[in-house]
Amino acid sequence: MIPDTQPLPPVDAHVHIVGTGAGGTGCWLAADSWFRKLQARLLLSAIGMKPEDLRGDFDRLYVEHLLARLRESSLGAAVVLVQEQVYDAQGRLVAGAGLFHVPNDYVLALARKHPEFFPAVSIHPCRPDALEELDRCLAGGAVMMKILPNVQNIDCSDRRFTKFWERMAAAKLPLLAHTGGEKTLPVVNAELANPHQLTLPLEVGVTVIAAHCATKSALFDANWFSDFAAMTERHENFYGDNSAFCVLNNRIRGDTVPRTLAEPLASRIIHGSDWPVPVSGFWPRAKGLMSAEAHGQWRKHPNLLERDFQLKRAMGYAPETFTRIRRLLRPRIPAAPTR
Ligand SMILES: [Zn+2]
Repeated sequence: MIPDTQPLPPVDAHVHIVGTGAGGTGCWLAADSWFRKLQARLLLSAIGMKPEDLRGDFDRLYVEHLLARLRESSLGAAVVLVQEQVYDAQGRLVAGAGLFHVPNDYVLALARKHPEFFPAVSIHPCRPDALEELDRCLAGGAVMMKILPNVQNIDCSDRRFTKFWERMAAAKLPLLAHTGGEKTLPVVNAELANPHQLTLPLEVGVTVIAAHCATKSALFDANWFSDFAAMTERHENFYGDNSAFCVLNNRIRGDTVPRTLAEPLASRIIHGSDWPVPVSGFWPRAKGLMSAEAHGQWRKHPNLLERDFQLKRAMGYAPETFTRIRRLLRPRIPAAPTR
């Protein structure tokens, strides 16, 4: 028996589920252009899957692959993310927009089957059935909500959504919202990734996690990292994740990482990898954020979940960074036995 004083194992709070719909999962993936096909192949080979897997029983293979990597890693669990579709301001589905879709029911069912998956659902608050869907997901065991405001066209400051945020706050369901630049998915409105957009849900009492701490993805993105940092001082329920900080992009420019390692920001940072996005220690090492020894030891580790975890440790993130998410998630209600 594990004594009470034993810290709980680390959690990766930002892991994407992807699917083609094989096996009737309801997922879809728009690998329609050569660029998208190439992108899908690169992501798959990065995590150790074969591009041919896309043509087969992909959804099952992807989950089995992720579970195997999770179980052989130092992590105890992963928050697995649903991908909502794009809706317009009137709540009408914009068919075919977005790169991929993963339905709530699919991820909720995966989490009922595999206790090391913590399910994060996703609902566009403009949907006419948003509140009903939220209640349904809460009953289904959702522990977090994930949205990409700039990709899914969600204006979080829209007063029409106050009730939706209030319902989330009452249910203690935290919100993981993409902030900052985005280069993997098509962006509808870049300004919606500004962390100030999250003020309304924060004021209503929702625990909000700014994915990527509002950093830039590419050279010409706006950099809202300082705005994010200032907002954490005004809102005690505001956090940020360090997902994609070990990627070949512009997220860790300037003093971003040192500031997230030191107080007052350090106690607001949550570990996340952004799996299946490729993980590289090149920039953290080039900027002197980790030792040559640690970089050499982990930079080619075949398990990207483990590689990202170890590189973040080598960058100096404190142990609590890897377990903090556990006390922010909605408490899990034991699932009713399925017949
Ligand atoms: Zn992500």
